[in-house]
This record gives sequence, C-alpha cells and structure tokens, in this order.
Amino acid sequence: MNDDFTGCLLVWCGFLNSWVNGIPVKYNLGPSLSSRVDQRAGDRARSTSDRYAPRQTAMRATDVLLFSLLCHVAAGSAQVNISRMLGQQAERVMALGEWEERWQQDRIGFHQPTVHRMLEKNLDKVLNGRTGVRFFFPLCGKAIDMKWLADQGHSVVGVEISEKGIQQFFEENNMTFSEEPVPEIPGAKVFRNPEKNISLYQCDLFQFSSSIAGRFGAIWDRGSLVAINPKDREKYAALIVSLMDNDCRYLLDTFLYNPDQYRGPPFFVPDEQVRSLFGSSCNVELLQSVDALTDRQRDWGLDSFMENIHLITLKNSSATK
Ligand code: SAH
Repeated sequence: MNDDFTGCLLVWCGFLNSWVNGIPVKYNLGPSLSSRVDQRAGDRARSTSDRYAPRQTAMRATDVLLFSLLCHVAAGSAQVNISRMLGQQAERVMALGEWEERWQQDRIGFHQPTVHRMLEKNLDKVLNGRTGVRFFFPLCGKAIDMKWLADQGHSVVGVEISEKGIQQFFEENNMTFSEEPVPEIPGAKVFRNPEKNISLYQCDLFQFSSSIAGRFGAIWDRGSLVAINPKDREKYAALIVSLMDNDCRYLLDTFLYNPDQYRGPPFFVPDEQVRSLFGSSCNVELLQSVDALTDRQRDWGLDSFMENIHLITLKNSSATK
C-alpha cells in the first residue's frame, strides 16, 4: 500500500548506510549521481589509508546534503501517498439514520462483549494516579467499558444517537435508568443511572457541548473518531478539545489499513492526521501499535489492519506531568 513511500525509504536508508559506513552504494538516480558514487569507489580503491582525508570529508558533506534532500523527497512522497489514501474516503457519509438502522437490524459488529484490551492495558496512563475521574465516551454505543469504569468509582458521560443502543446498555448490565429531556438540545434525552454515575445523552454528538455536562478528566475514544464522517474530523477535534479539562488524558484508538480495499466505517485515520488535528493545542503520544487483523477485517477485503493507541493531553496542562 505504500509503494512510493517504501521505495524512497529504501533509497535514503541506503544512503544513510553508505554515509555512515563509507561504503559506496550505486543508486539508479541518473548519471550525475552515479558517476559521483563511482568516483568515490575509485578513490577508495586507490587507498584505504586516506579514508578520512579532507577530500573524503568534503564528499561526505555532499552526501549529507543528498541525504537530507532525499529525506525531503521521501517525506513529500509519503505525504502525497497519505493524502491520496485519505482522499479515498473523504466523501464517504454515513447518515445518522443509517446508524439507527444498523441498531434496529442488530448489525452492530463493532460492539464487543468484553472490556477493550487497549483500555485495560493503558488505563494506568489515563488515570495517572487519579481516582473518581469523569470519563467522556463520544459515540458510546453500549460499550461495556462504561460499566467497567463506573464499577471502579469513575463517572461516565456518553453520547449516542441510538436510543435502542442506550437502553440496551442499561438493560444488559442490569441497571435501572431514568429518562429526561435535555433542555439545551431540542429532541434530545438523557438516560441516567445515579448509583453508578452514568449519564448517556441520546443526540447527535455535534449538538453536545461543555455547557451541557461540563469538561472531562478523561476521554475514551474507541469507534468514534474512526466512525464520524471524514469531512467532520476538524469539527470533531475542536469539539473534543473543548470538552477536555486542564488535566484531561484522552485515549484515542485509530486504525490503519488500505482504504482502496474497504470504504469504512471504521475509517482509515493515519497518525499524521491525528497530529494535524490535535497537534496545535495538544501533545500527542503514540502509546501502542498492534496488528489487529481478524476474520472480520478479512471479510471486509483487508489484508492488513493495524490498531494504534494515542494519548493526547492539552499542552502546558497538569496532565502531562
Ligand atoms: N464506541 C462504541 C460504538 C462505536 S460505533 C463501541 O466501542 O462499541 C459508533 C457509534 O456511534 C454507533 O453506535 C452509532 O450509532 C453512533 N453514532 C454515529 N454517529 C453519531 C453521531 N453523530 N452522534 C451520536 N452518535 C453517533
């Protein structure tokens, strides 16, 4: 999937190797460069004792220049490739009604019956020693993770368009719930279980804001950034950042795959885009990258599927300490 990028990478890795080891390597990059490399080989054949002679040093300086040039070329090519890959899904739109339809037809293959292993594994990093943290679950579905965190004394606020999904969450976890309208959002409802401190808002995420339920100390974003329509990513990032408390630790789960093979959702979200969406106001750290290819993704037509976990904190916030 990254042929252009891999090609360039191989070329500049080769150059790095030749530069570090002083080994002449011939590249198919046109006559001027090849003859220069040949000249180096000739120089070296004459004598190995003058390896560090001034002329050689001068040539190494040229190599450094070439190396940095190739780095720019490789980075540019990777950028072009990523843009092309993002372009594949840029226009894809899942209407809210289609999500509701999936819930009505029980086509909810995204739902997992167990706590997400990436949340479990990285919970310490999210909590960072804190107890009783306010967790936000954008596009929460009926994720069992919400109960798991509530059982540990944290509070949970989620947003989900499907009322069926919300009701199933409470019912399947044997929790009673109340149901009230949300005055700030026409047509929206909030479903609560006060004992467990779980409140799930049934509305479009883009109608939600910090004026409704404040800001949060942690966010678990699984199946959320990767599920919203690609054209809404900037709007989504701005909303999420506006919901982050100063000490918020935001755990984000993304997928890397070849968007030529599958149109999503979940959508392809490269690390470069995570950094461009959040990097101006946040520190973004890639915590983990795992091969997550299963038969489910193979059925979608994919032959590779990576899952990346990022920890995002506001710049200059107490959460980075
Ligand atoms: N995070 C959940 C669900 C992921 S699937 C999990 O891990 O299981 C995405 C969910 O978002 C679906 O349940 C869908 O109904 C809901 N959804 C999609 N777009 C939405 C929107 N704009 N606002 C609120 N919910 C939305």
